[in-house]
Amino acid sequence: MSDPIGASALSAARRDMLAVRSLLDSDYTSAGRRPAAMIETYGCQQNEADSDRMRGMLREMGFVPTDRREEADLILFNTCAVREHAELRLFGNVGALKHLKAKKPHLIVGVVGCMMQQKHRADEILMKYPHVSFILGTGALTRLPEAVLAALSGGERAAFVEEGTTAIPEGLPVRRESGIRAWVTAMYGCNNFCSYCVVPYTRGREVSRDPAPIVEEVRQLVAEGYRDITLLGQNVNSYGRGLSEECDFADLLARLDEIEGEYWLRFMTSHPKDATPKLFETMARSRHIAHHLHLPVQSGSDRVLSEMNRRYTAEHYKGLVSLARSLMPDLTLTSDMIVGFPGETEEEFSETLALVREVQFDSLFTFAFSRRRGTRAWDMPGQLSQAEKKERLARLMEAQQDCSLARNQALLGSTLKVLVDGVGRDGLLSARTEGGKPIYFPGDAALVGSFADVRVTEPKTFVLYGEPV
Ligand code: SF4
Repeated sequence: MSDPIGASALSAARRDMLAVRSLLDSDYTSAGRRPAAMIETYGCQQNEADSDRMRGMLREMGFVPTDRREEADLILFNTCAVREHAELRLFGNVGALKHLKAKKPHLIVGVVGCMMQQKHRADEILMKYPHVSFILGTGALTRLPEAVLAALSGGERAAFVEEGTTAIPEGLPVRRESGIRAWVTAMYGCNNFCSYCVVPYTRGREVSRDPAPIVEEVRQLVAEGYRDITLLGQNVNSYGRGLSEECDFADLLARLDEIEGEYWLRFMTSHPKDATPKLFETMARSRHIAHHLHLPVQSGSDRVLSEMNRRYTAEHYKGLVSLARSLMPDLTLTSDMIVGFPGETEEEFSETLALVREVQFDSLFTFAFSRRRGTRAWDMPGQLSQAEKKERLARLMEAQQDCSLARNQALLGSTLKVLVDGVGRDGLLSARTEGGKPIYFPGDAALVGSFADVRVTEPKTFVLYGEPV
């Protein structure tokens, strides 16, 4: 059973959506307009996918979307707890709404998502910001209609936070902002407890969705014209554990690859300890799975990796990369790296730099270690100063920029299939390669939403320029 929330939560959500709709109909019909709602999303793609579901529920409740705070009758902040920086930004943005709420007393403000699963943050929001109408944790997303209904009915400020899994029942409405790219959740939660990471505490334990509704959702998206579909999970490589049928992540990809149509399928995030030859072989022989692997390594030092509880070594990681590249010579490889983990010595940081230079990632998401309350690394000895972390981060970024440029220069003169997603300010079409690299080229705006072949004429560190073939 992969849906522990179940049908009762779904029917309660449906009932409350209808109740909100009829309240709004009577309040706004005479005003001659529909109420408007906006969601500000922080953090990862799983949050983006959750926001898509909340947009779907808001539409069912009768709200129209807006991206202007001044126009909104309801504003939701979908929060991220992974780094302190995102949390501080959230506090600033919620605080800034105080004046708008004073001008528009009917404005409903909700703070939802990962930060609200942490008691100290939830308490802080409710105490500091009386203009916040409700808070809602990741485990209680289906209770959004109930929270909106309570706020509209003039009820007390409320906290909807549930412990445990964050899985969402099948059948909730979804409203996606893009008509080209879509996120599809394959699994929720994480069991890994990397010592720096708060996700297992905010999103609960791993739960995989059954394969059949995932296949159906992707089939529907392809039929609607979506061209780039990303399967999401904190650790997609452990997909399938606990399902009633035998289906690991490579099996799921193979089933999805059978869907006819012109589209790319990609996934994130993979954990190196669970990445298998079967996964790479499935990618290599598929028709639709992008040859793009985001495989977070986090450090080049075995001691630091062990302290991080990552459960692989730098050698194991390099072996995976060699295997993946031997099966897919056109692979785009991206990764995450943390510098300044507690106790990281200069020598250990040099091992990280050496790994970056040896592996030659196409791009790297680089982070300075951020202490997260409740994780094992929170009070580990040997915490580095901000200045030390900043200095190492700068050196890491410099090393990576050389690699990114070299990888992009190797593409000079080659013809790539790209997905056109818009028109840039300079009139050039903007697109992404199969590996997700941004590329710009002259062309007709009618190409937006379709694939094109483009020859790379000018590779830069972070972008490519080209011409249509
Ligand atoms: S695999 Fe590690 S870093 Fe990723 S979400 Fe789970 S605990 Fe966090």
